[in-house]
Amino acid sequence: MKRLYRVFSVLCILLLVLSLVSCAYQEDMAAAALKENPIADAVADTFSSGEVKVHYIDVGQADSILIQLTDGKTILIDGGNKGDAEVIDQYLKSQKVKSIDYLIATHPHEDHIGSLPFIVKNYNAASIYMPKLTANTKVFEDLLTEIKAKGMKVNTASAGVSLIESKDTKLFMLAPNGTEYDETNEYSAVIKLVYKNTSFLFTGDAEAVSENEMIKKNLDLKADVLKVGHHGGRTSTTEAFLKKVAPQYAIISVGTDNDYGHPHQEALDRLQATGAKIFRTDEQGTIVASSDGNKITINKAPVLSGAKPVENAVNYIGNKNSKVFHLPSCSSLPKPENQVKLGSRQEVIDTGYTPCGICKP
Ligand SMILES: [Zn+2]
Ligand SMILES: [Zn+2]
Repeated sequence: MKRLYRVFSVLCILLLVLSLVSCAYQEDMAAAALKENPIADAVADTFSSGEVKVHYIDVGQADSILIQLTDGKTILIDGGNKGDAEVIDQYLKSQKVKSIDYLIATHPHEDHIGSLPFIVKNYNAASIYMPKLTANTKVFEDLLTEIKAKGMKVNTASAGVSLIESKDTKLFMLAPNGTEYDETNEYSAVIKLVYKNTSFLFTGDAEAVSENEMIKKNLDLKADVLKVGHHGGRTSTTEAFLKKVAPQYAIISVGTDNDYGHPHQEALDRLQATGAKIFRTDEQGTIVASSDGNKITINKAPVLSGAKPVENAVNYIGNKNSKVFHLPSCSSLPKPENQVKLGSRQEVIDTGYTPCGICKP
């Protein structure tokens, strides 16, 4: 009996040791599998990379912008033209987007809502925002039909609407500030996204009237990245507005050889004068800006780099008696007591000075 007991004890100990060894082995295997599993890594990337991604999808002469937040939430601002449904669909699929948390139609022009009937039908949108304005167009009717078919209601897009307000991420609207405008473009929802210390501004097709209203209301327009209003049209992106936004990066969503001459040279000049780096979807395709909360990186090099004029720079030297101006290197500069320091060439000409015949400034 005693012997049997001893054999049993030994067996028990053996079993215990074996099970412990196998447990440890299994844990090692699990850890190794996790390390080598690319799918596990991809999932970890999506939810813990800490990056906000803004995709300015190349939809030609139109707008469509996808935003992916760090918590996996998605926002779609505008849906291109009607013919862009497949482009947007493919792009959303490539980014593994299955549903949209906030769908925003900035205003009911076709180049902004064209593919939204398709998107509403095929993607689950948790909420939809549009300015209070109707359009007598087939595409607008189709959009309302699809929204109704999903049993959804439209939320009004207007200044003061807050969509997300968490510690690190804020998404809110700065326009429209009025309820009646002559131009449909002025009804555009203007949206600001703030992620930690970085910010993005999306202005739809808002033009000077809406820009001035935002300035007058003293709204915080400052943004690192500006989606340039109305595809770079002349009547948007005013100097006063740019002064408030002071963007580092300007993205123009525009089609090659479009009928409108967008982007307009004057708008480009104003953007360059702010020192912003300019990106264009017609020349560069889809542009993706990523923010880690402190730094923004863009997947393309800018097509134009703004050069901020150095304030108080002396570019020319004038003769206060003869009103002739010279390059500082000219061999026949006026006597020091007659010299006036002058800034930009335009400023010099505007004040009535004429170029020197020798250095021809
Ligand atoms: Zn447009
Ligand atoms: Zn428009």
